[in-house]
Amino acid sequence: MFSVKWQNGVLVESKGFSIVLDPMKKVESADFAFISHAHMDHTNAFTDSNKIKYSTKETAALYEAVADRKTKNVVSCAYGQSLSVHDTRLKVVNSGHVFGSAALLLVHDNVTFFYTGDFNFANTLTQNAISPQECDILVIETTYGRPDFVFPSREDVYDQIVQWAASTIMHGDIPCFLVYPVGKAQEITRLFNLFTSIPVVTHPSITRANATVNSFGGDLAFYDLAGAGEEILKSGNCVCLFPTSLNSRAIKMVYPRARVATVTGWGLTFGKRSADTTFVLSSHADYLQLLSFVKECNPKKVYTIHGYSEIFANKLKRLGFDSAPLEV
Ligand SMILES: [Zn+2]
Repeated sequence: MFSVKWQNGVLVESKGFSIVLDPMKKVESADFAFISHAHMDHTNAFTDSNKIKYSTKETAALYEAVADRKTKNVVSCAYGQSLSVHDTRLKVVNSGHVFGSAALLLVHDNVTFFYTGDFNFANTLTQNAISPQECDILVIETTYGRPDFVFPSREDVYDQIVQWAASTIMHGDIPCFLVYPVGKAQEITRLFNLFTSIPVVTHPSITRANATVNSFGGDLAFYDLAGAGEEILKSGNCVCLFPTSLNSRAIKMVYPRARVATVTGWGLTFGKRSADTTFVLSSHADYLQLLSFVKECNPKKVYTIHGYSEIFANKLKRLGFDSAPLEV
């Protein structure tokens, strides 16, 4: 049987085996750690050089490129590959969230535990959707677990993004996107590569992430702002990607012709905020996708984490699932 609790991450224990999933701090009591993907709020365990960590090699490589740090004691897991530790079997599957992102299945004594990590249940230009897994215990992220978070069709949003960029260039301005270097940056790069001939100029932090994806066989075409991209940006005939660690004002101080767009699921609630426009495009499942995902996994017990974990756990209870938020 598995014991599941929150201890700066999801701590899962079975006989002779303990693993902490996406810990935010060091968790001494766990023998192992699992890192589901390369977003910085999930990668703290990479800084614990002594602990043995499981992740995909794509996630470790992206972390090394973006954080500019070396990883140590990482056991690489490929999608679909099974590993045995004592009497527990581990398997990672694609979680559809960003390049290299993984969900984790653990099996012990015929009991199946499934941790989604951050996940997307829709296909995108860069990721295939997660595949639901029949399980006994499900730990699911519920970032958008509130009924009003229902995203518009991805194709429509792609269309709006391209139209906005073309019209911005036509008016003599430069369309700029504030995006996460891992995830949205690759999706926007691919969108312009596939459907337009507009060159994509990338901030160095995004250049490193895109180049890492290409080192695994990706074919993203982009120009580094600190290299060939500088001249292209001066011409004004391009789109430019900046990391979310910058903001609209800082970009416009350097590039007065910049028009800035944010690209996030939160656009449903906060509108344009400090940017010129916002596109509702997320790397997470929305409320309706979360519900169908749980139904397809058909678990006996569901724990919700992140975002609207309590609201979503209550909804699942009303649907007849044994569910509770894990963090309380
Ligand atoms: Zn994430």
